[in-house]
Order: sequence, then C-alpha cells, then structure tokens
Amino acid sequence: MPENTTASLNAFRIDPAETGTYPDQTLAEQTVNALGLKLKPARKRIGKLAEALFAERKKALLVVFQAMDAAGKDSTIASVFRRCDPASFSVASFKKPSAEELRHDFLWRCHKHTPERGQLRVFNRSHYEETLVVRVHPQWLTSQGVQPPVNDHFWRTRYESINAFEKHLSDNGTRVIKFFLNVSRPEQLRRFIRRYSLPHKQWKFSIKDYAKSLYWDEYQAAYRDTIWHTSTPQAPWYVIPADNKKTMRTLTAAIVQAELENMNPNYPELPAYNEKERELLAALLKENP
Ligand code: ATP
Ligand code: MG
Repeated sequence: MPENTTASLNAFRIDPAETGTYPDQTLAEQTVNALGLKLKPARKRIGKLAEALFAERKKALLVVFQAMDAAGKDSTIASVFRRCDPASFSVASFKKPSAEELRHDFLWRCHKHTPERGQLRVFNRSHYEETLVVRVHPQWLTSQGVQPPVNDHFWRTRYESINAFEKHLSDNGTRVIKFFLNVSRPEQLRRFIRRYSLPHKQWKFSIKDYAKSLYWDEYQAAYRDTIWHTSTPQAPWYVIPADNKKTMRTLTAAIVQAELENMNPNYPELPAYNEKERELLAALLKENP
C-alpha cells in the first residue's frame, strides 16, 4: 500500500491531542476518490493477509465495531471480511449481558472471546458498551453491584481499565483497532422508516431501537468522552462517516488492509526435517516429478 494512502487514512484515526471533531462525510468521499480506493481488491487482500496471519500464528488482530443502531455494522462486517476463511476469522457479538456475566468484572465476558494467535476476530459491540449504553442507562450498574457515587472519576476508572486491558493484549501480540461507524440522526431515522416500510426489512425493525435513539445526545456525549479517553497508539479509534454505506465499507476495508499490511504477517518457512522425513520427501519428489 503506497505511503500517501496510509497517511491519508490516518485522517480517520482519532488522535487524543486533537481538537475533538470527527472526520466528516465530505472528507470520506474525497479520500475514497482521491486515493482511488476500491472495495473488491481490498477485500481480497484482507483475505490473503488473514491467511498469512493464520499460517504464521504469531500475532492476532482484534477489530472492534461500535455504532448507533442502523449505522450498518452488520453489513459492513459481512462486506469487509467476505474473503476471510472461517478457519481463522470469526465474529463475537455482545448483546445484553447474562446474569452470570453481570456477576463478573465488566471485562470478563469480552476477554474470553479475544483472538488466539493467528486469528482475526471481530467484536460486533464490545466492552465499550460499558461506557456507552451503561453510561446512558446507569441502572445497569445496579445489577453489576456498583455502589454510588457514579461520577466522572468512576468513568475515568473504567477507561483506565479498558486502556490497561488493550495494552495487555497488545503487549501479548494482539493488535487492537476500533471503528465507530458514525451515522447522522436524520439518516438513522430514514433507515428506521425504510426498515419498517419494506416487508423484507421488517425483521430488522425494532421500536426499541427508536426508543433508544431518543437519547441521541446522551449517546453522542458518551461516545465522544469514551473515544477521546481510549484512543491510544496501541489501540486506536477510527471514526468512519456512515451516511453513505459504500464509502463507509470502502474506507473501513482500506484501513483494515493498511493495519494488516503493517503487521506484516509472513508465511512460515519449511521446518528442518530429520533424516527419515528427508528420505520421504526425496521419494515424493522422485515419484512425482
Ligand atoms: P442488530 O440490531 O443489528 O441486530 P445489535 O448489536 O443492535 O444488532 P440487538 O440485539 O438489537 O443487537 O441489541 C443488543 C443490545 O444489547 C444493544 O442495545 C446494546 O446496547 C445492548 N448491550 C450490549 N452490551 C451491553 C452491556 N454490557 N450492558 C447493557 N446493554 C448492553
Ligand atoms: Mg439493534
């Protein structure tokens, strides 16, 4: 991947030292056009790099997806990783926690699903729900046995736990990258209505999603605070404008590809054979020239 491409994609990475604005839809379109980014070849290359990662079995990649409802998480995951082999690629989805999960520390259920060496794992929602939905609806904390006061210090402590967890993963060979697919409120409402109106989309419609979206400002504030406290060099956040699905998928694929290229996975060399194995090999090559 050319250096200028990687540099331009960095515009979508959140640098905690920056001013606090997200990259917008115009920048997304301009970047895709200026760099001539294409979804299909990126997908194919991601498949190849994931295969090398699997063959090498030294490192792992964890890709976290967070978004408001109807931003297109599921379809983006399906599209970007389409060429990955299910032997080395999988998705873990995190819904409302079970009673057992609530009895443990808040990272427990996610840590169990982190990838082993050689694997590429996607988190569809993640431990970040713990500073997003839980922040907007703090009643969840009662089931987690949390005692008041739930103040800024409480959320800072959660960010510190998350940063330490992700540093631990990184120190142990797992690259962590995080995507916030950032849909606008009008586009989200348009998609809710589309889901409700089209018979083949109705299964995706949930009036609860609309009820949740009424807390839009609270969610946006929680995302903002979370993203700026947890974007680190070893586990950066990328914010991808989500109002145009094609652009969103193309940019996400380009960033995943750039991250994998940077990990530089290599196919392993042949092992040193013992004498018997060398004889076997010689026989194979002799009989099948
Ligand atoms: P989709 O709607 O695309 O099928 P989804 O990820 O929105 O996928 P849902 O079953 O609709 O899945 O919703 C899962 C819900 O679980 C979300 O509202 C999410 O905020 C909630 N959730 C996830 N993790 C937690 C958590 N740790 N505590 C409380 N709620 C959580
Ligand atoms: Mg949902």
